[in-house]
Amino acid sequence: MDISTVCIHGSNFPYDPTGSVSVPIYQTATFAHPAVGSSTGYDYSRVQNPTREHLEKTVAELEKGIDAMAFSSGMAAITTMMEIFQIGDHMIASNDLYGGSVRLFQTISKKNGITFDFTDTSDLATVESLIRPATKAIFVETPSNPMMQVTDLERLSTITRKYGILLIVDNTFLTPYFQNPLCLGADIVVHSATKYLSGHNDTLAGFLVLGSQELSDKIRAIYKTTGACLAPFDSWLIIRGLKTLAVRMDRQQENARKLADWLRNHPKIKKVYYTGLPTHPDYEITLKQSRGFGAMISFEVDCEKTAIRLLERVKLILYAESLGGGETLITYPMLQTHADVPKKKREELGINERFLRLSVGLEHIDDLIEDLEQALNDE
Ligand SMILES: *Cc1c(COP(=O)(O)O)cnc(C)c1O
Repeated sequence: MDISTVCIHGSNFPYDPTGSVSVPIYQTATFAHPAVGSSTGYDYSRVQNPTREHLEKTVAELEKGIDAMAFSSGMAAITTMMEIFQIGDHMIASNDLYGGSVRLFQTISKKNGITFDFTDTSDLATVESLIRPATKAIFVETPSNPMMQVTDLERLSTITRKYGILLIVDNTFLTPYFQNPLCLGADIVVHSATKYLSGHNDTLAGFLVLGSQELSDKIRAIYKTTGACLAPFDSWLIIRGLKTLAVRMDRQQENARKLADWLRNHPKIKKVYYTGLPTHPDYEITLKQSRGFGAMISFEVDCEKTAIRLLERVKLILYAESLGGGETLITYPMLQTHADVPKKKREELGINERFLRLSVGLEHIDDLIEDLEQALNDE
């Protein structure tokens, strides 16, 4: 079945006996038992709730995993995943990650005795040289946030398999519509469903999708114990958002390609980072492992003054953190998503005062260009 159809119909959930076309919101904390020692299959909503179950099965199917767990945010998903590691374990992570993941790894994970090496994970030789006996996993975002570096997942997974370590991929930017890391050798897929999967900038959610029963059993037990599960109503919002994932991704990508081209030719824009530009160094890897390029664009303007004026003068485009929704958002990574990354490291990556990130939304392309044009204008 095509992904766009799975988005609409979801998993084969036994629909409500009323025939309700929309999945019902089971707004309940607990479930009554028919007899001693028997259960309807549901006992308590932290463990499972029918609305959330429908969503989880749908996302597992979209990502071609054997199980998916829905969390109250992307960070809740990643935090829970980190509980599979022990004191003394070592991990390798991309040096260009969502700032919240960096903060988690460098504070809470560190306190829990887990050490990290941050590196350019698209450089496979360096990654391999960092592996030591204590190394348990490699955590990557591809394309990365916000520099849009692409890691060749199939090649990286031959390394992780060789050493018997886990490959964890944050697939928030491309979504299962454009990329399925589990099919490329990943063991765990992470999502901030707050972004494209929800698509409406109206709720927080996250996922872990697992490729093996062993990982599913292990993480289900932690999930049930720690409890950062997604509420029934929020689960329903994501089910509703997912219905239009395919059409939104197609349209947002189309807008992004046009906007990347327009930005590239604007005299005040010095550099455009978009994997869909054939001039992007990782264009070929993207074509090999993904079905699309997504709708995230980073770019560098000529000077700090232009960056600040642009942020203050956009009207339609909103100056806000986050991404993936119908509304086009512009972000200043230096002050927002990456404020906690040390200045030196940030600047080495290229995240300076001239650097901006766009999450291209669903507005008409002409209106987006007109807004950027007036905001970049000198008068
Ligand atoms: C937003 C984001 C997260 C964190 O997700 P929340 O839902 O905000 O907790 C993790 N990874 C990436 C790539 C993100 O964009």
